[in-house]
Amino acid sequence: MIIDVHYHLIPVLPESMIDYVVKDPIRAAKIIGKKVNFEEIKASAPKFYIDRKGRKLLKRMDEYGIDFTVILGVDDARNEEITPDLVQLQNKMIADVANKNPNRLMALAGVDPRRPEALDILKTCIEDFGMKGLKYHTDYGYDPAGPESYELLEYLEEKNGILLAHTGPMYPPSRNKFADPMMLTDIGVDFPDLRVIAAHMGQINWRSWASLAALQPNLYGDLAMWAPIALSKPKLFCRELRTIIDYVGIEKVLYASDGPIFDMIIPSIDFIDFLKRLPENGYGYEFSQQEIDAILGENAEKLLNLTNK
Ligand SMILES: [Zn+2]
Repeated sequence: MIIDVHYHLIPVLPESMIDYVVKDPIRAAKIIGKKVNFEEIKASAPKFYIDRKGRKLLKRMDEYGIDFTVILGVDDARNEEITPDLVQLQNKMIADVANKNPNRLMALAGVDPRRPEALDILKTCIEDFGMKGLKYHTDYGYDPAGPESYELLEYLEEKNGILLAHTGPMYPPSRNKFADPMMLTDIGVDFPDLRVIAAHMGQINWRSWASLAALQPNLYGDLAMWAPIALSKPKLFCRELRTIIDYVGIEKVLYASDGPIFDMIIPSIDFIDFLKRLPENGYGYEFSQQEIDAILGENAEKLLNLTNK
């Protein structure tokens, strides 16, 4: 079973966000040594990314053998183009796609807690749209454990929702102090029952995530954005992954693609295949079949309570 816990379903893409969205895939191209043209990537981005009904997503899941995907929206209160109405329209469109495919998809709402109406937006997403949790992009400049956020987290814990919070440095204008995994420590104290997935496990700052995930029972991490390192520097990746598993415990590590953001450069199937081959070839490190099965799907199956679906 393969479960992807972090996929951006993009029903609308404001013009002003395109440059920002393509920056990371272009960096990924650099890491894996693939030559790309910025203007060409930019020009093809809307067609590649925008997926109003989730058709591209479902086709990709069938092609890649992905059984279940957690889809999410992203909100950024700094961007004036993203009005509360647009946020809610985006969340509703994402929820509709998930509700049409409940055996294959689950949706998390993108809500920036700095919005005065954030709690109302989240309540509508959970109670009216049937969404299952919340996605934070804290690098946009807010503390996931700040006072505005706490209102939302209290509600989310009460509703048994999931928080997927971005961690790890990104290009400016990301304010990366807020993306330090250590920002999640208060949440583990004040909302001990809230399931939290640290997107990217903090990436290069994974040790900060690992130090918490080893101790906070409900803190998990996903492997989104690790594909470029895995595919270009497999030995380094295997060393890091082995250390993470040994330090934190296998049950905390979840596969995620961050699709479709990087697929233009690195199709997600390449990373899935890479992970599947690790029991045969761990580049000097050992990985059991059980461990890879746990990462690719079994851990997420338990975390998301999918067994009875
Ligand atoms: Zn992401």
